[in-house]
Amino acid sequence: MCTNGIPEDVLRNEDLIKRLEDVAKDTALLYGVLMRTKDKPNSPEVVSYAPFTLFPSPVPGALYHQALLVQTRFNELVDRISQNPLFLEEALTSTIRVDDFTAKLFNIYKQVQQESPASPIVLGLNRSDYMLDQGADGSASLKQIEINTIAASFGGLVSRMPAVHRHILKVANRPEEQEQIMDNNPAAGLAKALAKAWELYGSEKAVVLFLVEDVQRNIYDHRCVENELWSRDIPVIRRQFEDVYKGGMLDKDKKLFVDGQEVAIVYFRNGYMPQNYKSEQSWEARLMIERSCAVKCPDIGTHLAGTKKVQQELARPGVLERFFPDEPETVAQIFATFAGLYTLDMGDEGDKTVAMALANPDQYVLKPQREGGGNNIYGEEICRVLESMKNSTERTAYILMDKIQPRPCLNYLLRPDAPLRLGTCLSELGVFGAYVRRGNVMVMNECAGHLLRTKSSEHADGGVAAGVAVLDNPLLV
Ligand code: ADP
Ligand code: MG
Repeated sequence: MCTNGIPEDVLRNEDLIKRLEDVAKDTALLYGVLMRTKDKPNSPEVVSYAPFTLFPSPVPGALYHQALLVQTRFNELVDRISQNPLFLEEALTSTIRVDDFTAKLFNIYKQVQQESPASPIVLGLNRSDYMLDQGADGSASLKQIEINTIAASFGGLVSRMPAVHRHILKVANRPEEQEQIMDNNPAAGLAKALAKAWELYGSEKAVVLFLVEDVQRNIYDHRCVENELWSRDIPVIRRQFEDVYKGGMLDKDKKLFVDGQEVAIVYFRNGYMPQNYKSEQSWEARLMIERSCAVKCPDIGTHLAGTKKVQQELARPGVLERFFPDEPETVAQIFATFAGLYTLDMGDEGDKTVAMALANPDQYVLKPQREGGGNNIYGEEICRVLESMKNSTERTAYILMDKIQPRPCLNYLLRPDAPLRLGTCLSELGVFGAYVRRGNVMVMNECAGHLLRTKSSEHADGGVAAGVAVLDNPLLV
């Protein structure tokens, strides 16, 4: 258990905690850490606070800074992968044979590759997630869980979290920790890159289209970014795939118009899961967007660069060097954050992976090509799943990864309708990246802030939207 952070006598002071509970919830509401409810996900009439921790959680300063520092390199890596059809094809061939969703995305990629590029402007907004692995000697190291290149969320709401924890710590009479809460404003950082790409697109009336789901529980997270754009006089519209299918068209120059409005940027906050594509019309809308000269955030190549299969291929010796041929320091900097990742492709190497996982299932996580939380397989379940498909190509839809073992900390998780109790928790640090490229020139490449999420150690999988993790702030120690 961690010992630094908020002292245990404070955490166990029942009177104080009782007093803080209401203060915390009201403060989250006041500062706009909001989420719509499960029962009424599309109603602005009934909202609640987005789940969050009562106290900030300790994070070693050196590892926090390491994560921030490597972010611009990850931005470049993702961008270079997205422009390398040969690598993407090599990396994904075995996956797309058995995974229909990845195959459909890849088909769109191939299709747009055959046409001349419609837009020279590329906008990437991603989030690289890490856990701090506890070594046998007690030291911790930064290990990447994954990089999200599409619809990376919570940059908006987490921008409101420093004020919430600062206030809680003030009421708790913890001035030292209060001062340690860092400023963090990914909403502004993401909006800055969106604004830059919009400006480069160069049409004052053209809008930024947020491509959204029909269920919009997390709308306030979007709105934080959206309102930053409006404050810069950049118009924003929100549409679903179906709306784009019905009201969208490309003109002779491949300009995208939706309901008569020219679209400068399509910002995907949807489209990362198979169920987001409710019909063939959704897929046709995606293709129309990809073929257009609107800036896509992400474009289809960048979306594919964020797949777990690509992540696993990148961890092979010599692969990062292909993307940074003359930059051994960059290669080392990125590689240092990689956990062990193993192929399940057919052949000796994949057979070895299967044997390894079956022998020690608790040391690994089995991952399909899915996003959004709740899809990974852990522990004994790994044996069941692998036994059933170990000799079939079905296994190539998955990758295997070392299980990261972070050090647990004590904290309280506040969520609507759940009793407050002290529990052992694990944290995951996300770092937002934002970049804009025009042609061959990176015109912006930045780290846009961080996201700390914390979950009860009972849960193997994570995710705030999945209802497991909650919003937090790092307390650097
Ligand atoms: P998704 O795309 O569904 O978010 P992730 O790879 O981010 O998939 O995994 C979801 C969650 O599962 C993470 O937030 C983390 O809590 C847990 N997890 C994933 N990979 C590992 C790992 N290698 N070790 C420990 N926990 C992991
Ligand atoms: Mg994730």
